[in-house]
Amino acid sequence: MRRLGVLTISDILYHFPARYEAEGVAAQSDKLVSGTKVTLYGKLSNLKAKKLWKSRRPATEGWFEDGEGRVKILWFNQPYIAKMAPQDTLVKLTGTVAGKDKPYITNPEIEVASALPAGLFEKARSSKPETLPAGGQGRSSLFPVYPESRGISSKWFYHALQRVFASGIFSRIEDPIPKDIRERYHLPELAAALVWIHAPEKQSHAEAARKRFAFEEIFTIQAAKAQERALNDTQISFPIQDAPALARRFFSSLDFPPTYAQERATSEILNDFEKLHPMARLLEGDVGSGKTLVAAATAYAVVNSRPQGREFGTLQVAYMAPTEILASQHFQSFIEYFADLPINIALITGSGCWKFPSKSAGWRTRSQATAISRAQLLKWVENGEIAMVVGTHALIQKSVRFKHLAYAIVDEQHRFGINQRKALIRRESEAVPHFLSMTATPIPRTFALTLYGDLDLSVLDELPPGRAKVKTQIVTDKSRESAYEIVRRELRAGRQAFVVCPRIEEPDPAKMNALQAKSAKAEAKRLQKDVFPEYKIGLLHGAMVPKEKEGVMRDFASGKIQILVATSVVEVGINVPNATVMMVEGAERFGLAQLHQLRGRIMRSSHPPYCFLLPFASGQISSKRLKALEKSDDGFALAEADLEARGAGDLFGRRQWGISDIGMEALKNPRLIQAAREEAHRLVREGRTLAKYPSLAERIKNVSRELHFE
Ligand code: ADP
Ligand code: MG
Repeated sequence: MRRLGVLTISDILYHFPARYEAEGVAAQSDKLVSGTKVTLYGKLSNLKAKKLWKSRRPATEGWFEDGEGRVKILWFNQPYIAKMAPQDTLVKLTGTVAGKDKPYITNPEIEVASALPAGLFEKARSSKPETLPAGGQGRSSLFPVYPESRGISSKWFYHALQRVFASGIFSRIEDPIPKDIRERYHLPELAAALVWIHAPEKQSHAEAARKRFAFEEIFTIQAAKAQERALNDTQISFPIQDAPALARRFFSSLDFPPTYAQERATSEILNDFEKLHPMARLLEGDVGSGKTLVAAATAYAVVNSRPQGREFGTLQVAYMAPTEILASQHFQSFIEYFADLPINIALITGSGCWKFPSKSAGWRTRSQATAISRAQLLKWVENGEIAMVVGTHALIQKSVRFKHLAYAIVDEQHRFGINQRKALIRRESEAVPHFLSMTATPIPRTFALTLYGDLDLSVLDELPPGRAKVKTQIVTDKSRESAYEIVRRELRAGRQAFVVCPRIEEPDPAKMNALQAKSAKAEAKRLQKDVFPEYKIGLLHGAMVPKEKEGVMRDFASGKIQILVATSVVEVGINVPNATVMMVEGAERFGLAQLHQLRGRIMRSSHPPYCFLLPFASGQISSKRLKALEKSDDGFALAEADLEARGAGDLFGRRQWGISDIGMEALKNPRLIQAAREEAHRLVREGRTLAKYPSLAERIKNVSRELHFE
């Protein structure tokens, strides 16, 4: 139960069925009768290609499991199914039972089943209960099927709920959604909805209940975010003087003009700087859209600002990045951007600290920064001598104290937990810093409005000019050689290539069938020996120590290495404009957002880049996803399409967001999101603590706890 996150009575009530089955139509797998046709939902496991014992004919053998039991399955003459069939996801199986004593199913058809029947939510009618039904006392002909965990079956939940229902709990629970809101959107009240979702008499009741809980979840998140925002707006920040003029000076010092989108985002930020309370803003922009420049222009304004009336000294800026490689690259960028300023810039990472300017002459590069001790850095940050600090997670350690931290920036914010992001601004200073969170993860609009409901949004929807369009292609085994030909041609022209693999090492042979995917180590060896013996190939993965990684990256950046074979550690931020090829092995193993990020690695060059997606075995859903990538290179359009197709679970991983399947479904409905948002903000305007709505305030506490998973 802990694994399912079910710890309280309330958790049981909110553990909703994934779907319903009409009893008698779909058999349960422990009631299989030879000769009958069955439709079952569950998982495939242990699929193996083999030769049949007598005839020596090829076949695939394996198991099918649901919460009630398991049954053997057999496909004659189809050994390849062992490799192709989806394991570890919910599937719908249709086939005929054979065998007397030990039943098994022959040549079944398999389809990937989504947790919710498609379109269920849209169809939901807003029927309103007049009276509470009899409490699900078995009159229902719909049998709820719950998301299960080993040892806890749907039947268990069914019986547990009967007891909860019978305990008279409904007289004691209060609805977190105020009555007027429920009436406005025709939502059933909590008690009725709980009965309807667990023991519906008909499908339309279940649908009305799902709609209600979808609204409740989004509404509660929105209310929690609105509260956070309201709290933010009661706090005081440092005033930034003359910011627009300073930002203009910064832009005019560059060799290229900012894009229109960069200018717009910059002025949105500068606008916030003029207000009394701290900025709380999310900057969303596709890979390569130039978010760093917006951060730099606004940071430039902050470190140059001299507040009047009070002697503040220099205001400070903190810039946090998720990896040492990235932090180091940004340190270099800021050294260049701020070359004309008499300020100190520092880098703090787990493996050391550096400060620039160094005592040596020739002020331009990272290599001229001096290594300093951590103690020294902490001292200079605390007494305000260092104006700009770039760093990794090391930046949020308690020992790092600022004198006047006025502006905190988090790069690639999705790589940090929400608590880590907050830690950057939680300072015991006289004012709360302005906060900018940056991300290249393309987030559908409904997502941003909900999960980042406490932040204002700026979007970079334009790439700097002169970028060549990336050519994306799905490569099958047949066309692999011709893809290698293109790689060879690029390398001959002096350019470089990434090869990304889903794993670091070869899997343990005993578990071979669990995760068949190319490993970076083996692929690097194979490419060096058999495919590209004339080029130098480097290896980069997450299990290497930072020093090794930096070394390999440096060699790749300087061109000593032509092909970099890596795991998805290259996903974030590595800037090698000379690299024009991205090959992704086992492409179906990566999420859409991740593939889009990987492709972003080669979109910085002015030469035409190539992205090759090499699926290991593609099921239907994954090949749809790969085809979408082939067609579009607009991250936001891809995100919207992906949400439309499946509910964004696959895009980001549900758990990461702490949102239920029902909530995910709701995110497809912009009208519901907008309504929930307006209502939540209205209540919070009435009073930030929601004292008038105690049951909502209580519910928010629970939701906030779950959201902080992220
Ligand atoms: P991201 O948004 O992915 O963080 P970066 O900030 O790393 O993108 O910028 C990508 C590249 O584009 C950098 O090399 C940067 O110097 C360059 N760049 C940024 N803005 C412009 C611009 N307005 N014109 C030309 N090049 C730009
Ligand atoms: Mg970036």
